[in-house]
Amino acid sequence: MVIGAGSAGLVSSYIAAAVRSKVALIEKHKMGGDCLNTGCVPSKALIRSAKILSYARRAEEFGLEKIDLKADFATVMERVQQKVAQVEPHDSVERYSSLGVDVIEGSARVHSPWSVEVNGKILTTRSIIIATGAAPFVPPIKGLDKIEYLTSDNLWELRELPEKLVVLGGGPIGSEMAQAFARLGSQVAQVEMASRIMLREDPEVSAYVEEKFKAEGIRTLTDHRAQEVRVEDGQNWLICDHQGQEVKIEFDRLLVAVGRKANVQGFGLEELGIETERDGTLSTDPLLRTKYPNIYCAGDVAGPYQFTHTAAHQAWYASVNALFGPLKSFKVDYRVIPWCTFTDAEVARVGINETEAVEQGVPFEVTRYGIEDLDRAICDNEDHGWVKILTRRGLIRFLV
Ligand SMILES: Cc1cc2nc3c(=O)[nH]c(=O)nc-3n(C[C@H](O)[C@H](O)[C@H](O)COP(=O)(O)OP(=O)(O)OC[C@H]3O[C@@H](n4cnc5c(N)ncnc54)[C@H](O)[C@@H]3O)c2cc1C
Repeated sequence: MVIGAGSAGLVSSYIAAAVRSKVALIEKHKMGGDCLNTGCVPSKALIRSAKILSYARRAEEFGLEKIDLKADFATVMERVQQKVAQVEPHDSVERYSSLGVDVIEGSARVHSPWSVEVNGKILTTRSIIIATGAAPFVPPIKGLDKIEYLTSDNLWELRELPEKLVVLGGGPIGSEMAQAFARLGSQVAQVEMASRIMLREDPEVSAYVEEKFKAEGIRTLTDHRAQEVRVEDGQNWLICDHQGQEVKIEFDRLLVAVGRKANVQGFGLEELGIETERDGTLSTDPLLRTKYPNIYCAGDVAGPYQFTHTAAHQAWYASVNALFGPLKSFKVDYRVIPWCTFTDAEVARVGINETEAVEQGVPFEVTRYGIEDLDRAICDNEDHGWVKILTRRGLIRFLV
């Protein structure tokens, strides 16, 4: 029995159905979960429109006549919904039913380690996979509840471009959206309490993206701790603390993008005493089992990565271990998790970065290649950035 039909739940049930196992997939809201409805798909569709605009603004660089191209925001957002609709069939009830999955639309409640309640019925099962995902974390900022703030959940309903947009958060979602909205015509201020945006990456990456953002007119306010939202004479202000000084930032709309918290409450896990980590994700062993050996989890609810492809990766381990556990089990392998932040410049990596290698005391050597030297990048007018490879000390000399 799989709870949640996002990336983790879909892939888990797909695998179970592929080996002719009896599998039920329970979804309380929309098939496809966040990735399809409010995450990857709409964000990448929006970024594409914004990118086309940015290219049009650079027309002369490519030997073309300058044109004054503007976004019709409502049309752009309608296109985003069209893209969601186009992808929808891949994750639909019809598709999964045809694969042999028993799809149940309803809210699941774990009743015992061997039973789940849905639509007033108790269904029994040998194993459960919790794939309930995560939701935007909204920090307790004074006055925030007095305004209609945006999150990645409701952002896609916007049809009017905010003139002044504050993006709270310098992580991947905040950075992608800050740039997309700036390109579409909003005046964007991105507020981050840490000393740099994209904190998971090496400092040189943060500095590079920040430089690009500045060049595109985005105000990147690092070291700014949001403290209060005030509405004065119909105007919204975000009050921040910046090194002991009060900074007031005016805005029309505020997008809260400061992280995502795992959906672990209100469906029976507390009653069973299923434990969570400090970051709120479910505690698991390397087989992705919770404290009950037949209750597994995968995806954003499991952490530590919150990506679609890691949800699918974990789904394989959770479903294979749930199906074949007593015979053969596999420990989840996170050694080579790739990820990309779709800012322009895009930032992609796999494995640990330089900062983490230093923190973990791993001896390494760095090999760099500057993309300004790459013929294809030169042809594309994208001859900037770099590739950085960390190898075990001495390995490169050995290979050469
Ligand atoms: C704006 C944005 C952009 C993103 N961009 C990318 C990207 O470019 N690349 C990438 O890899 N990742 C991206 N992500 C992250 C990605 O969307 C998530 O990692 C992924 O969707 C997690 O899948 P999941 O199956 O764990 O959870 P979800 O997709 O959240 O699915 C969980 C499902 O469980 C259901 N559910 C919850 N509780 C119950 C219950 N009690 N009963 C029944 N159903 C229940 C929910 O309704 C939901 O449909 C992005 C996220 C956001 C918000």
